[in-house]
Amino acid sequence: MNTDVITTPAVLILLGPPGAGKGTQARMLEDAFGLVQLSTGDLLRAAVAAGTDAGKAAKAVMEAGGLVSDEIVIAILRDRLGEADCAKGVILDGFPRTTVQAEALDKLLSETGQKINAAVSLDVDDAAMVTRISGRYTCGNCGEGYHDTFKTPTKAGVCDKCGSTDFKRRADDNAETVGQRLAAYHEQTAPLIAYYSDKGVLKSVDAMGDIDAIAKALGAIVETATT
Ligand code: ADP
Ligand code: ADP
Ligand code: ZN
Repeated sequence: MNTDVITTPAVLILLGPPGAGKGTQARMLEDAFGLVQLSTGDLLRAAVAAGTDAGKAAKAVMEAGGLVSDEIVIAILRDRLGEADCAKGVILDGFPRTTVQAEALDKLLSETGQKINAAVSLDVDDAAMVTRISGRYTCGNCGEGYHDTFKTPTKAGVCDKCGSTDFKRRADDNAETVGQRLAAYHEQTAPLIAYYSDKGVLKSVDAMGDIDAIAKALGAIVETATT
Protein backbone atom coordinates (compact mmCIF):
# COMPACT_ATOMS: atom_id res chain seq x y z
CA MET A 1 0.00 0.00 0.00
CA ASN A 2 1.16 3.51 -0.73
CA THR A 3 -0.01 5.45 2.31
CA ASP A 4 1.40 8.72 0.93
CA VAL A 5 -1.63 9.24 -1.24
CA ILE A 6 -4.09 9.02 1.66
CA THR A 7 -4.84 12.59 2.63
CA THR A 8 -8.52 12.11 3.32
CA PRO A 9 -9.98 15.07 5.20
CA ALA A 10 -13.20 13.42 6.36
CA VAL A 11 -14.12 9.88 7.29
CA LEU A 12 -17.78 9.06 7.83
CA ILE A 13 -19.16 5.63 8.61
CA LEU A 14 -22.71 4.51 7.86
CA LEU A 15 -23.69 1.69 10.20
CA GLY A 16 -26.87 -0.26 9.77
CA PRO A 17 -28.39 -3.60 8.86
CA PRO A 18 -28.89 -4.77 5.27
CA GLY A 19 -31.58 -2.63 3.67
CA ALA A 20 -31.26 0.24 6.17
CA GLY A 21 -30.55 2.68 3.34
CA LYS A 22 -26.76 2.98 3.63
CA GLY A 23 -26.14 2.87 -0.12
CA THR A 24 -29.02 5.21 -0.92
CA GLN A 25 -27.84 7.78 1.61
CA ALA A 26 -24.15 7.41 0.74
CA ARG A 27 -24.88 8.29 -2.88
CA MET A 28 -26.87 11.34 -1.79
CA LEU A 29 -23.99 12.43 0.46
CA GLU A 30 -21.60 12.02 -2.47
CA ASP A 31 -23.70 14.43 -4.49
CA ALA A 32 -24.24 16.89 -1.62
CA PHE A 33 -20.73 16.98 -0.15
CA GLY A 34 -18.38 15.73 -2.88
CA LEU A 35 -17.41 12.76 -0.73
CA VAL A 36 -16.61 9.33 -2.16
CA GLN A 37 -18.75 6.31 -1.28
CA LEU A 38 -16.72 3.23 -0.39
CA SER A 39 -19.03 0.22 -0.37
CA THR A 40 -17.26 -3.02 0.50
CA GLY A 41 -20.32 -4.85 -0.88
CA ASP A 42 -19.81 -3.15 -4.27
CA LEU A 43 -16.06 -3.79 -4.15
CA LEU A 44 -16.64 -7.47 -3.34
CA ARG A 45 -19.27 -7.85 -6.10
CA ALA A 46 -16.76 -6.34 -8.54
CA ALA A 47 -14.11 -8.81 -7.34
CA VAL A 48 -16.54 -11.71 -7.82
CA ALA A 49 -17.41 -10.49 -11.34
CA ALA A 50 -13.72 -10.09 -12.20
CA GLY A 51 -12.94 -13.57 -10.87
CA THR A 52 -10.02 -12.43 -8.67
CA ASP A 53 -8.76 -14.71 -5.87
CA ALA A 54 -10.59 -12.56 -3.33
CA GLY A 55 -13.75 -12.73 -5.44
CA LYS A 56 -13.54 -16.52 -5.71
CA ALA A 57 -13.18 -16.82 -1.94
CA ALA A 58 -16.04 -14.38 -1.27
CA LYS A 59 -18.67 -15.62 -3.73
CA ALA A 60 -20.22 -18.54 -1.82
CA VAL A 61 -20.14 -16.68 1.51
CA MET A 62 -21.96 -13.70 0.00
CA GLU A 63 -24.57 -15.92 -1.65
CA ALA A 64 -25.24 -17.59 1.71
CA GLY A 65 -25.58 -14.21 3.48
CA GLY A 66 -22.53 -14.63 5.72
CA LEU A 67 -19.67 -12.20 6.24
CA VAL A 68 -16.58 -12.45 4.06
CA SER A 69 -13.34 -12.93 6.04
CA ASP A 70 -11.91 -9.87 7.75
CA GLU A 71 -8.59 -10.42 6.01
CA ILE A 72 -10.09 -10.18 2.52
CA VAL A 73 -12.35 -7.23 3.28
CA ILE A 74 -9.68 -5.22 5.08
CA ALA A 75 -7.24 -5.73 2.18
CA ILE A 76 -9.84 -4.61 -0.37
CA LEU A 77 -10.81 -1.56 1.68
CA ARG A 78 -7.19 -0.58 2.33
CA ASP A 79 -6.36 -0.66 -1.38
CA ARG A 80 -9.43 1.41 -2.28
CA LEU A 81 -8.77 3.95 0.47
CA GLY A 82 -5.31 4.51 -0.98
CA GLU A 83 -6.67 5.65 -4.35
CA ALA A 84 -6.35 9.34 -5.17
CA ASP A 85 -10.05 10.21 -5.34
CA CYS A 86 -10.47 9.31 -1.66
CA ALA A 87 -8.59 12.48 -0.76
CA LYS A 88 -11.93 14.28 -1.06
CA GLY A 89 -13.24 12.44 1.96
CA VAL A 90 -15.02 9.11 2.24
CA ILE A 91 -18.27 7.60 3.35
CA LEU A 92 -17.78 4.03 4.43
CA ASP A 93 -20.89 2.05 3.48
CA GLY A 94 -20.95 -1.47 4.89
CA PHE A 95 -17.50 -1.31 6.51
CA PRO A 96 -16.56 -1.99 9.25
CA ARG A 97 -18.86 -4.93 10.00
CA THR A 98 -16.87 -6.61 12.79
CA THR A 99 -14.80 -5.41 15.73
CA VAL A 100 -11.65 -6.74 14.00
CA GLN A 101 -12.45 -4.55 10.96
CA ALA A 102 -13.12 -1.51 13.19
CA GLU A 103 -9.76 -1.96 14.93
CA ALA A 104 -8.01 -2.39 11.57
CA LEU A 105 -9.62 0.84 10.35
CA ASP A 106 -8.46 2.71 13.46
CA LYS A 107 -4.91 1.47 12.87
CA LEU A 108 -4.99 2.38 9.19
CA LEU A 109 -6.29 5.88 9.91
CA SER A 110 -3.80 6.49 12.73
CA GLU A 111 -0.95 5.58 10.38
CA THR A 112 -2.07 8.37 8.07
CA GLY A 113 -2.96 10.90 10.78
CA GLN A 114 -6.70 10.69 10.12
CA LYS A 115 -9.69 10.27 12.37
CA ILE A 116 -13.30 9.23 12.14
CA ASN A 117 -15.53 12.31 12.04
CA ALA A 118 -18.75 10.40 12.73
CA ALA A 119 -20.18 6.89 12.73
CA VAL A 120 -23.89 7.18 12.01
CA SER A 121 -26.23 4.38 12.94
CA LEU A 122 -29.26 4.10 10.63
CA ASP A 123 -31.92 2.66 12.92
CA VAL A 124 -34.61 0.48 11.30
CA ASP A 125 -36.66 -2.49 12.45
CA ASP A 126 -36.15 -5.99 11.06
CA ALA A 127 -39.56 -6.17 9.33
CA ALA A 128 -38.81 -3.03 7.31
CA MET A 129 -35.49 -4.45 6.21
CA VAL A 130 -37.07 -7.52 4.67
CA THR A 131 -39.51 -5.35 2.69
CA ARG A 132 -36.76 -3.02 1.57
CA ILE A 133 -34.41 -5.79 0.49
CA SER A 134 -36.99 -7.83 -1.37
CA GLY A 135 -38.03 -4.82 -3.49
CA ARG A 136 -34.54 -3.51 -4.17
CA TYR A 137 -33.06 -3.13 -7.66
CA THR A 138 -30.38 -0.93 -9.22
CA CYS A 139 -29.50 0.64 -12.53
CA GLY A 140 -27.08 -1.68 -14.30
CA ASN A 141 -25.29 1.28 -15.85
CA CYS A 142 -24.81 3.91 -13.11
CA GLY A 143 -25.69 1.96 -9.95
CA GLU A 144 -28.55 4.23 -8.86
CA GLY A 145 -30.72 2.37 -6.34
CA TYR A 146 -34.48 1.85 -6.71
CA HIS A 147 -37.31 0.04 -4.96
CA ASP A 148 -40.45 -1.58 -6.36
CA THR A 149 -42.65 0.48 -4.02
CA PHE A 150 -40.60 3.12 -2.21
CA LYS A 151 -38.39 4.56 -4.95
CA THR A 152 -39.52 4.05 -8.53
CA PRO A 153 -38.02 5.87 -11.54
CA THR A 154 -40.00 8.94 -12.65
CA LYS A 155 -40.50 7.32 -16.05
CA ALA A 156 -41.21 3.59 -15.66
CA GLY A 157 -38.27 1.43 -16.75
CA VAL A 158 -35.86 4.35 -17.33
CA CYS A 159 -33.12 5.35 -14.87
CA ASP A 160 -33.60 8.93 -13.59
CA LYS A 161 -29.86 9.48 -13.37
CA CYS A 162 -28.53 8.13 -16.67
CA GLY A 163 -31.46 7.12 -18.88
CA SER A 164 -30.47 3.46 -19.01
CA THR A 165 -33.20 0.82 -19.29
CA ASP A 166 -30.96 -1.94 -17.91
CA PHE A 167 -31.78 -2.82 -14.29
CA LYS A 168 -30.56 -5.63 -12.07
CA ARG A 169 -31.33 -7.37 -8.81
CA ARG A 170 -28.77 -8.83 -6.44
CA ALA A 171 -28.52 -12.62 -6.15
CA ASP A 172 -28.46 -12.37 -2.33
CA ASP A 173 -31.61 -10.20 -2.08
CA ASN A 174 -33.92 -13.14 -1.51
CA ALA A 175 -36.04 -14.24 1.44
CA GLU A 176 -33.78 -17.18 2.43
CA THR A 177 -30.57 -15.16 2.54
CA VAL A 178 -32.05 -12.13 4.29
CA GLY A 179 -32.45 -14.09 7.55
CA GLN A 180 -28.75 -15.00 7.52
CA ARG A 181 -27.73 -11.44 6.75
CA LEU A 182 -29.83 -10.05 9.59
CA ALA A 183 -28.39 -12.64 11.99
CA ALA A 184 -24.85 -11.72 10.89
CA TYR A 185 -25.70 -8.07 11.50
CA HIS A 186 -27.07 -8.62 15.00
CA GLU A 187 -24.24 -10.95 16.05
CA GLN A 188 -21.21 -9.35 14.45
CA THR A 189 -21.97 -5.75 13.44
CA ALA A 190 -24.38 -4.38 16.06
CA PRO A 191 -21.61 -4.42 18.75
CA LEU A 192 -19.94 -1.62 16.75
CA ILE A 193 -22.63 0.77 17.98
CA ALA A 194 -21.15 0.52 21.50
CA TYR A 195 -17.62 0.58 20.03
CA TYR A 196 -18.19 3.99 18.40
CA SER A 197 -20.28 5.29 21.27
CA ASP A 198 -17.30 4.64 23.58
CA LYS A 199 -15.11 6.64 21.18
CA GLY A 200 -17.55 9.56 21.29
CA VAL A 201 -18.24 9.60 17.53
CA LEU A 202 -21.60 7.78 17.41
CA LYS A 203 -24.66 9.51 15.97
CA SER A 204 -28.04 7.93 15.33
CA VAL A 205 -30.70 8.64 12.74
CA ASP A 206 -34.22 7.23 12.69
CA ALA A 207 -34.10 5.52 9.30
CA MET A 208 -37.76 4.45 9.24
CA GLY A 209 -38.83 7.74 7.66
CA ASP A 210 -38.73 8.80 4.04
CA ILE A 211 -35.50 9.00 2.07
CA ASP A 212 -35.36 12.82 1.85
CA ALA A 213 -36.06 13.36 5.55
CA ILE A 214 -33.25 10.95 6.46
CA ALA A 215 -30.91 12.68 3.99
CA LYS A 216 -31.63 16.00 5.68
CA ALA A 217 -30.87 14.62 9.16
CA LEU A 218 -27.69 13.00 7.88
CA GLY A 219 -26.60 16.14 6.07
CA ALA A 220 -26.85 18.13 9.29
CA ILE A 221 -24.73 15.55 11.11
CA VAL A 222 -22.10 15.56 8.35
CA GLU A 223 -21.90 19.36 8.39
CA THR A 224 -21.36 19.45 12.14
CA ALA A 225 -18.90 16.56 12.12
CA THR A 226 -16.70 17.95 9.35
CA THR A 227 -16.38 21.56 10.44
P1 ADP B 1 -28.37 -0.79 2.26
O1 ADP B 1 -27.26 -0.19 1.43
O2 ADP B 1 -28.31 -0.34 3.68
O3 ADP B 1 -28.43 -2.28 2.14
P2 ADP B 1 -30.16 0.48 0.31
O4 ADP B 1 -29.76 1.90 0.32
O5 ADP B 1 -29.76 -0.36 -0.85
O6 ADP B 1 -29.74 -0.24 1.69
O7 ADP B 1 -31.76 0.44 0.45
C1 ADP B 1 -32.48 -0.80 0.40
C2 ADP B 1 -33.73 -0.63 -0.42
O8 ADP B 1 -34.67 0.21 0.29
C3 ADP B 1 -33.54 0.05 -1.77
O9 ADP B 1 -34.44 -0.54 -2.69
C4 ADP B 1 -33.88 1.53 -1.52
O10 ADP B 1 -34.41 2.15 -2.69
C5 ADP B 1 -34.94 1.41 -0.42
N1 ADP B 1 -34.86 2.49 0.58
C6 ADP B 1 -33.76 3.13 1.03
N2 ADP B 1 -34.08 4.02 1.99
C7 ADP B 1 -35.43 3.93 2.16
C8 ADP B 1 -36.38 4.61 3.01
N3 ADP B 1 -36.00 5.55 3.89
N4 ADP B 1 -37.67 4.26 2.89
C9 ADP B 1 -38.07 3.29 2.02
N5 ADP B 1 -37.24 2.63 1.20
C10 ADP B 1 -35.93 2.94 1.26
P1 ADP C 1 -26.23 -5.01 2.51
O1 ADP C 1 -25.82 -3.89 3.38
O2 ADP C 1 -27.45 -4.75 1.71
O3 ADP C 1 -26.30 -6.32 3.26
P2 ADP C 1 -23.64 -5.06 1.08
O4 ADP C 1 -23.61 -4.76 -0.35
O5 ADP C 1 -23.03 -4.10 2.02
O6 ADP C 1 -25.15 -5.34 1.41
O7 ADP C 1 -22.95 -6.48 1.35
C1 ADP C 1 -23.28 -7.63 0.60
C2 ADP C 1 -22.48 -8.81 1.14
O8 ADP C 1 -21.08 -8.58 0.95
C3 ADP C 1 -22.64 -9.08 2.62
O9 ADP C 1 -23.78 -9.89 2.91
C4 ADP C 1 -21.33 -9.80 2.93
O10 ADP C 1 -21.35 -11.15 2.48
C5 ADP C 1 -20.33 -9.06 2.06
N1 ADP C 1 -19.72 -7.89 2.75
C6 ADP C 1 -19.88 -6.58 2.43
N2 ADP C 1 -19.17 -5.80 3.26
C7 ADP C 1 -18.55 -6.64 4.14
C8 ADP C 1 -17.71 -6.46 5.26
N3 ADP C 1 -17.33 -5.23 5.66
N4 ADP C 1 -17.28 -7.58 5.93
C9 ADP C 1 -17.64 -8.81 5.55
N5 ADP C 1 -18.46 -9.06 4.51
C10 ADP C 1 -18.90 -7.99 3.80
ZN1 ZN D 1 -28.60 4.82 -14.20
